[in-house]
Amino acid sequence: MNYAIIKLKPGKEESLKRFHPWVFSGAIHSMSVQPEEGDIVKVTDSKGNFIAVGHYQIGSITVRILSFEDTPIDLEFYKVRLQAAYNVRQSIGLIDEEYNNTYRLIHGEGDYLPGLIIDIYDHTAVMQAHSPGMHYARHILAQALQEVMGDRLKSIFYKSETTLPYKAQLDATNEYLYGGDAGNIAIERGLKFHVDWLKGQKTGFFVDQRENRALLERYARNRSVLNMFCYTGGFSFAAMRGGAKLVHSVDSSSKAIDLTNKNVELNFPGDTRHEAYAEDAFKYLEQMGDRYDLIVLDPPAFAKHRNVLHNALQGYRKLNALAFEKIQPGGILFTFSCSQAVSKNDFRLAVFSAAAQARRKVRILHQLTQPADHPVNIYHPEGEYLKGLVLYVE
Ligand code: SAH
Repeated sequence: MNYAIIKLKPGKEESLKRFHPWVFSGAIHSMSVQPEEGDIVKVTDSKGNFIAVGHYQIGSITVRILSFEDTPIDLEFYKVRLQAAYNVRQSIGLIDEEYNNTYRLIHGEGDYLPGLIIDIYDHTAVMQAHSPGMHYARHILAQALQEVMGDRLKSIFYKSETTLPYKAQLDATNEYLYGGDAGNIAIERGLKFHVDWLKGQKTGFFVDQRENRALLERYARNRSVLNMFCYTGGFSFAAMRGGAKLVHSVDSSSKAIDLTNKNVELNFPGDTRHEAYAEDAFKYLEQMGDRYDLIVLDPPAFAKHRNVLHNALQGYRKLNALAFEKIQPGGILFTFSCSQAVSKNDFRLAVFSAAAQARRKVRILHQLTQPADHPVNIYHPEGEYLKGLVLYVE
């Protein structure tokens, strides 16, 4: 195949030499021919020496690197990458048919496949492309995935309608690339839940909170728990198994509340400790009184871009201040930010300001992040996005 060759300006190869997987538009000197969006291109330094091969895209990130070796990007290439990702999950004990069949198989740059997400729910893979290159590769990826997973995989649902760059006008449709509905009950650490990849947010479940839910379970005994921004109730059923006295789940989406109720019923049928409310977070927190001594705040990304960072930090401060004002003395607050644009320090500062505003004594018990199946490529620190603090409030 004849790939377009993208030559960099002198000195602009430095970050690639340190294996950072993006080429920014400003680094480009010239192109041998104008590639189409999603094409595979080769990148060279200013003298024409090969550096890397990747997917071309129009925008500030112009090339997402697939390999620093001059290798064909074909079925075999994707198979090797998918197999390596599977092996890591298996070798760290994450995959277990009975106990945990929910995990992220591919986490973009963290698995050396920028622009691609694959989450596994029992026998179904939900695949999400964030770049035109991965969109065009979806069928070959689906084939590679079937070859790697064998009969552990019964269906592949492609869900990229809202994740591809709007300007590329790819008109992706959400559809099965292989199989069909293969049952939608999956298991996380022995707890069951319904996943709605057809209509639910993201790939249907927030796989990234597994370890943090496990930690919450350890602290839940005899506590009155508020799971704010509960979505499908992952933290709620962990709290119930941990022996919570009562668990209240709140989300502004009534669909999320329905799913949470279904999931609680699936694990703890008839258990009256749980109630769920479809309400706005700020309204609920203002009116809820002081009955809770364990609160989870896991809001959606307040900042999708750096330019709205200031507002986002105000949002985190306001939200956390409400929790600090209302939580019982001796209470524990699990507070998160999943905005990639908000740094660990920014987030901690917002929470610190909230604590001071509420005039509470607060200590950090744990600093949390994303789990091992959302690995961060050491050369791509931007891949670290989930931040959490567990706080003891006097
Ligand atoms: N904690 C969840 C994931 C949270 S995702 C889990 O473990 O799976 C963020 C959730 O916040 C979404 O379900 C969304 O519906 C909800 N949400 C967004 N804005 C909200 C608001 N103003 N008040 C309450 N919930 C809100």
